[in-house]
Amino acid sequence: MGKTTGFLEYPRQENPFRPEEIRLKDFDDLHEAQPADARRIQAGRCMNCGVPFCQSAFGCPLHNLIPEWNDLLYAGQDREALNRLLLTAPFPEFTGRVCPALCEKACNLADDGVTNRDNELYLIETGFEKGWIQPRIPPVRTGKRIAVVGSGPSGLAAADSLNQMGHHVTVIERADRPGGLLMYGIPNMKLPKEIIKRRVRLMEAEGVSFLLNTEAAPCITDAYDAVVLCGGARKPRTLNTPGIDAQGVCFAVDYLTEATKALLRRTVPSICAKGKSVVVVGGGDTGNDCVGTALRQGCASVTQLEMLPKPPEERPIGNPWPQWPRVLRTDYGQMEALAVQESDPRIYETTVKSILTDENNAVTRLETVKLKKSAEGKLLPVPGTEQTLPCDLLLIAAGFIGCDGRTAETFDLFADPRGRLMPPDQTHHLGGRLFSAGDMRTGQSLVVRALADGRAAAQEIHAFLQKNSF
Ligand SMILES: Cc1cc2nc3c(=O)[nH]c(=O)nc-3n(C[C@H](O)[C@H](O)[C@H](O)COP(=O)(O)OP(=O)(O)OC[C@H]3O[C@@H](n4cnc5c(N)ncnc54)[C@H](O)[C@@H]3O)c2cc1C
Ligand code: SF4
Repeated sequence: MGKTTGFLEYPRQENPFRPEEIRLKDFDDLHEAQPADARRIQAGRCMNCGVPFCQSAFGCPLHNLIPEWNDLLYAGQDREALNRLLLTAPFPEFTGRVCPALCEKACNLADDGVTNRDNELYLIETGFEKGWIQPRIPPVRTGKRIAVVGSGPSGLAAADSLNQMGHHVTVIERADRPGGLLMYGIPNMKLPKEIIKRRVRLMEAEGVSFLLNTEAAPCITDAYDAVVLCGGARKPRTLNTPGIDAQGVCFAVDYLTEATKALLRRTVPSICAKGKSVVVVGGGDTGNDCVGTALRQGCASVTQLEMLPKPPEERPIGNPWPQWPRVLRTDYGQMEALAVQESDPRIYETTVKSILTDENNAVTRLETVKLKKSAEGKLLPVPGTEQTLPCDLLLIAAGFIGCDGRTAETFDLFADPRGRLMPPDQTHHLGGRLFSAGDMRTGQSLVVRALADGRAAAQEIHAFLQKNSF
């Protein structure tokens, strides 16, 4: 283990955020990296527990060997620590930035868990800096050809594993840049886009081909030995509200995509929050990303509406460690809004009753109403609680209801009632040469879960190819 008494001597220290007044002026990385010494001390807090919950089903979905690489990091053996991390983690430069770190909440140190995510990021970035990360070209090729549809984290993870197994992999992506929601969804300040490009360049050097601006066609099931559908779950939940078709009403991912595209091409986004009163419907992570982006674009004000009650500050009964804590969290965008507006942007137990527009059908105000849970657990509007809010940009971040339907139609498949392409036996095999993985199979989830699912699909495809010679 790291240092026997490390967890008693050293307080938890995460990579600090850059101050709000500075980071709001740009779309650069939110965090400042810490020097190696700081990360070593933090790794020394790991207790090498008899039962490491951090790598159990409650913790890391990739089952990263956390105590082992923390120990090596503490001992100054960075390269060995990185090699141990890479045994299970395909892209630590993504998870080290955007993972909610399920492992840290499952840590035996509970709310004071070891800073595994920052340690992981330190290891991979050190690896790139020191030239330890080099293309790994498979020594033998099997001659089998595999198409991966979608280049989000699940598609990239499946492609990487299958390529390393010696198969020829082509990734087919309808967008103009690879990465899925890593590229067009998660904002640049959380995951700088150069980081995705660096990984894609590496994968290309290792033999993976990327076809961009390309929609998957039905004929690929004949052209390839296996096809894995990793198209995500991006169908947004909308609002059943009069005025929803007004100008200035936009889905969160469309807004965030345009913000990133404009940033990369150095132009003004076609949907921009500058000078506007922005209202975000949805109090989750996507909503928070909209708040952070709108503030950077120079909005006049930003408000976030959440249907559910404010979560408790401490774990409620029935939500014990090592489960993920369902408690109040104030994320970077909300912190920034607090700093600029001096008030919490979040309004709880509230939804939009109607969208009010001007003579050009552009949104000008929202009528909101309070919600209360009925005895049956339904959220119902409370009569007489209506209010109006100024709004000239309404961003809908109310969650996702499954895959977009286009891919299912192309391959003559039916999504289940939750909008997923999940085989009835819960495997990845949809039948014939078709497989599915990531959010498209499981519903909207997390990057780390999509990575784990892409790798699991690759194992199934490999076994399938070994059994079936065409
Ligand atoms: C705004 C936002 C922020 C998020 N932030 C975080 C976060 O901070 N941390 C975290 O862990 N998770 C986060 N998530 C969730 C996470 O991004 C997803 O769970 C993850 O990206 C799913 O990966 P995927 O590969 O299954 O699908 P996606 O990332 O959705 O990628 C699917 C890809 O498939 C392509 N595609 C679809 N159909 C076709 C077709 N027929 N032909 C060709 N290409 C096709 C799409 O263009 C897309 O590029 C966030 C989600 C959103 C919306
Ligand atoms: S991927 Fe996420 S859950 Fe796994 S070790 Fe890294 S931070 Fe923890």
